[in-house]
Amino acid sequence: RAKQLGRGRYVMFDETLARNAVDELAMEVELRHALQHGEFVPHYQPIFRLDSGEVVGHEALLRWNHPRRGMLLPDDFVPIAQDCGLLEAIDWQLFGQVCERMVRPDTGEGFVTINVSPQHLRHAYFDRRLLQLLERSGLPPTRLLIELTEGALLDDPVLVRDTLERLRAAGVQAALDDFGTGYSSLSYLHSLPLGKLKIDQVFVRELDAAGGTGANTVVAAILALARALGIGVIAEGIETAAQRDALLAMGCEFGQGFLLGRPAPSPCPRRG
Ligand code: C2E
Ligand code: MG
Ligand code: MG
Ligand code: MG
Repeated sequence: RAKQLGRGRYVMFDETLARNAVDELAMEVELRHALQHGEFVPHYQPIFRLDSGEVVGHEALLRWNHPRRGMLLPDDFVPIAQDCGLLEAIDWQLFGQVCERMVRPDTGEGFVTINVSPQHLRHAYFDRRLLQLLERSGLPPTRLLIELTEGALLDDPVLVRDTLERLRAAGVQAALDDFGTGYSSLSYLHSLPLGKLKIDQVFVRELDAAGGTGANTVVAAILALARALGIGVIAEGIETAAQRDALLAMGCEFGQGFLLGRPAPSPCPRRG
């Protein structure tokens, strides 16, 4: 009985392993193929000045235009791409496309933000490579912002700060993404060269126009903090007019969300 059970367990364990390994290998092969065949594309979500409704820039968001499974979102494949060491190559390919697109004459003149994963930012020469890309594409550094999450700052804050400082000196601003969801935010905020702070959608979702929820208090505090530090604020995930109105009433300058504009294959065209 014990032997049977043991063997049964062994077989089960073995099959599970094999299935995962095969799945992972298949995925890695697909990801490499996708890289070679240009299946990774940026989508662009407009970022608005909330009081005037003017588009001031876009966030570039990674998509996998999969030949059979359709348009895949980052959550579906970024963790696996990361595990097999392909995310960096995917990101650079994407950043290249974004820069090229932003200098096209039919594209508006605003800024564009790209999402940089924490490990990526800590790489030696990240800043140099980014500046080379800008130079080759002809996109002025002042039109690019890099978005990083609080996780990027934890492991090696000094290295990250130096990198951000070199980039800022060249004209590239940094934006802190998903603000409020990470740890120890306050301890490093003042020491980093941040141009923008993005309030995470978990807070925006719970805003109401009457100003009654705890989220209103948190957002008001973030706005006051950012103002004191001279950092601009972008609210993420605005889905209702009530949320937009609440943000406007609290003096939040910029925002993005499905209410205002969804991610799309092209940035907003040049006006006029
Ligand atoms: P994020 O940088 O916080 O991006 C915002 C996410 O919120 C996007 O999801 C966007 O489509 C979504 N969003 C925008 N407005 C609304 C709204 O009103 N309501 C709701 N519910 N969602 C909204 P997406 O495109 O699926 O991206 C998910 C995450 O994947 C991003 O979060 C970012 O962390 C990561 N990511 C995106 N692009 C890249 C990339 O090029 N490279 C890397 N390494 N990561 C990326
Ligand atoms: Mg982002
Ligand atoms: Mg975000
Ligand atoms: Mg996010």
